[in-house]
Amino acid sequence: MNHDASCKKLSAGKVWFVGAGPGDPQLLTLKGRDLISQAGAILYAGSLVSKAATQWAPVDCDIADSSDMTLEQITGWLISRAQRYEIVIRLQTGDPGLYGALIEMIQPLDAVGIESVVVPGVTSAMASMAAACESLTLPEVTQTVIFTRVEGRTPMPEGEQLAELASHHCTLCMYLSITLLKTIRKELLIAGWSDQSPILVVQKASWPGEQKIVRGTLADIRDRCIAEGITAQAMIV
Ligand code: SAH
Repeated sequence: MNHDASCKKLSAGKVWFVGAGPGDPQLLTLKGRDLISQAGAILYAGSLVSKAATQWAPVDCDIADSSDMTLEQITGWLISRAQRYEIVIRLQTGDPGLYGALIEMIQPLDAVGIESVVVPGVTSAMASMAAACESLTLPEVTQTVIFTRVEGRTPMPEGEQLAELASHHCTLCMYLSITLLKTIRKELLIAGWSDQSPILVVQKASWPGEQKIVRGTLADIRDRCIAEGITAQAMIV
């Protein structure tokens, strides 16, 4: 990282990107909890991170929800707080390094001489499998796991179309794709999967009292999810 001396004077603090885990505050790491208990400011992603994760913060901690902020507003908030406080936390859902715009936030901080540190978290794929008492790997079935998403507004790089990834016939964990179950079925059939392939969907894995588990096949999982009203915050495996 670039620590230009003239920039460095600007900032007193560091920004910690802390993985809040999938929802249950008990799944936060001890390191994350200790940092929260010493934080001067915390910016949490309100739609996906439970406010309960901030319960360990000091009473005078400057806490804000980033739900309605743009990326520029988020980095602006983090920069202004890092000029005032020693420990500033960006609480991210699951693990910060998966679909979390981590690099997009670190770069502008780095440009003004603010140091970033990342604390990993339990990603929702792990929490979903745990919720269903399932294993990601199984001898003689698969020894490989792919974390991916289906192409939506964010284009998929070459070679990462779902049908190509699915041709490995390994475990697929699909983030951000619950509204795209029709496309998933089409792509997996192209890759030679049977309509009877088992599919697991977990909504709000680990959220106390809110978790939903739906099991089905490639053929019927979409109807089952619609029947359960599952349209967001769900993992497909
Ligand atoms: N960084 C996060 C992922 C952010 S992208 C992580 O590591 O989990 C947001 C997507 O993650 C959602 O669309 C959904 O697919 C998944 N997700 C997040 N929290 C979830 C939860 N508690 N249960 C199931 N899926 C979840």
